[in-house]
Amino acid sequence: MQDYSKYKTIMRVVGIPLMIIGLIIWIFFFINFGRAGFESAQTNALLSMGGFVLFAIGVMLVRLSIIRPVSKYYATELSPAMEIAGQSIGKGLNQSGFGKSKVKEVIKIKCPHCGYLESEDAEFCSKCGKKL
Ligand SMILES: [Zn+2]
Repeated sequence: MQDYSKYKTIMRVVGIPLMIIGLIIWIFFFINFGRAGFESAQTNALLSMGGFVLFAIGVMLVRLSIIRPVSKYYATELSPAMEIAGQSIGKGLNQSGFGKSKVKEVIKIKCPHCGYLESEDAEFCSKCGKKL
């Protein structure tokens, strides 16, 4: 993981200047291409192509270094991923007994005589003593 992020940083550090330098060379010689005479036209075309290749490599490196963290970011933002995370947390809580005790507390019925909240499995109200 750490080695991979280091690799990505290198790709970005190399890729961005490569992209910029490549773009400058490409544009510079592309503009020169039109103005130059026939003799240097070929050289300019070649250098322009070289600049474009540098730019393309730079873009590729930057994209490679960006794609991973971006897709990771979206994965955590997506609701299915969040649901899965929520479900696994809920499962973990249930397994540790946390969910069970909470459910027992939540399920209560109201006594029809006095309105006291009695647990569901109780036969008689613990406040007024009447049958539920
Ligand atoms: Zn009662």
